Amino acid sequence: MLFPMVCLICKTPWPRGGRIPCDYCLSGLLALREPYTRVESAYSIHSLFAWRRESPPGLAWLVRSLKRQTEILPWRELAACLVENFAPPANAVLVPIPSLGPNHALGLARALGHWSGLPVAEALAASVKTRSQKRRSRIDRQSITFERADWAFCSKFRTVVIVDDIVTTGSTVRAGYHTLGRPEKCEVWCLLDRRPCGT
Ligand SMILES: [Zn+2]
Repeated sequence: MLFPMVCLICKTPWPRGGRIPCDYCLSGLLALREPYTRVESAYSIHSLFAWRRESPPGLAWLVRSLKRQTEILPWRELAACLVENFAPPANAVLVPIPSLGPNHALGLARALGHWSGLPVAEALAASVKTRSQKRRSRIDRQSITFERADWAFCSKFRTVVIVDDIVTTGSTVRAGYHTLGRPEKCEVWCLLDRRPCGT
C-alpha cells in the first residue's frame, strides 16, 4: 500500500486521524467544485470538478498525487463530496477502470463504496495492445485495452457504475462500457471531467 504520510497537495505531514488532503487544502479544493452531470447517449457522467486547459494548478497536483493510490484514505473526503452531490443508484455495482500499475480508480471506487455501501467489482482487466509497434505513436503504444475479468456480476445488479479519476476524451470509459457488454443502466462517476468552456 502506498500510504501518503503527507497532505496530497501541500505535503504537510499527516496528523493521525486527520483528513487527506489536509483541512486547509481540502477547503481550497472544495471551493473549486463544479458538480455536473454530462448526459451521453449510453450513460451520464457525474463529476465534481471541471478539467479545462485553464484549470487551477491545484487540480493538476491533485490528479498527479492521487495516481497509484489504491486505498480508501486518500480518496475518502473527495468521494464523500461526490456522494453528497449525486445520489448513488440503488442495487448498483462499482466497476473501476483498470490500469497497468497500481489502480487508483480502484481507490476511488473503494471510497465511493465506503460512503454509499455499494459493492466494488474489479470486472475489467487491462492489457496492452501488442500490434506492430513501429508505425505507432508513443501515446498509441501505451494505449490499454480491456478484457472482462468477471462475467457473472452483471446479472446481479440493476445498474453498473463505471469509476475513473478523470474523463478526458471519454474513449476509456467508452471502451470499458463496451467490454462490460453495454449494460442497460450505466453511469460514470469521476472526479474530473473535461468540459467545454462555459459549461
Ligand atoms: Zn495540505
